[in-house]
Amino acid sequence: YFISVEGGDGSGKSTQMQRIEAYLTEMGQEVLLTREPGGTPMAEKIREMILDPANRDLTGRAEMLLYAAARAQHVEEKILPALRAGKTVLSDRFTDSSIAYQGFGRGLGDMVAEVNRIATGGLEPDLTIFLNITPAAGMARKNRQDGHVLDRLEQEKAAFHEAVYAGYLQLAKENSTRIADIDADRPAEAVFADIRKALDRVFGF
Ligand code: C5P
Repeated sequence: YFISVEGGDGSGKSTQMQRIEAYLTEMGQEVLLTREPGGTPMAEKIREMILDPANRDLTGRAEMLLYAAARAQHVEEKILPALRAGKTVLSDRFTDSSIAYQGFGRGLGDMVAEVNRIATGGLEPDLTIFLNITPAAGMARKNRQDGHVLDRLEQEKAAFHEAVYAGYLQLAKENSTRIADIDADRPAEAVFADIRKALDRVFGF
C-alpha cells in the first residue's frame, strides 16, 4: 500500500511518521520511508532550491511546477518500483500538500490538481493520514521546540497558513474515504491510537 502523511507545521508529523513506520514493520510490512519535496537525490536538490530563503522571488507558478517535477521524479524512481516490489511506501507529504499550499495558499486553484495528475501519472495514496491542527495551535507548538530556525515558507504570514489549513479541511471533506482526518492537537499517544485504527482498517490487521 501507498500511505501519505499530511499536516501543517507543528502537527507532530515527524513523530507520528516514526511511529507509523515502527508499527507497520512490527506488523510484518517492508516499509519504505520517504518524503516530499525530495525522496531522490534530484528531487532533494529541487527541495533545497524551493526552501532556500535566497529564492524568495520564486513565483507561485514556478514553485508549483518545481514541486510537481520533484514529485514526478519521486514517483517514477522510487515510489512505483517499491510498490511493484510489494513494499509499503510511507511518504511524508504527497499531492495533497501541493493542493493545500500552492492551490489554496498561493491561490493557484484547480490547476494544481491537473498538473499533479500529469506528474504522478494518476497515482494516489491508498490512505492519507491528515494530522489536523489549526495554524495557531501548530505555531505555538513549533515555537516551543528548541533551536528551530524558520525556513522561507514558515516565515509566510498567518493568512497564508489559514488558507492552507482551509484547503486541507476541504480535501478531507471531499475525500473522506481516502483521508483519515485526525485531531492532532492532543498528546502523541492519543493521536497515534487513531492513526493505528485507520492503518488497521486499510491493512486488515
Ligand atoms: O514537510 P516539511 O514541513 O519539512 O515541509 C517543508 C516546507 O515545505 C514546509 O514549510 C511546508 O510549508 C512547505 N511545502 C509547501 N508546499 C508543498 C509541500 C511543502 O509549501 N507542496
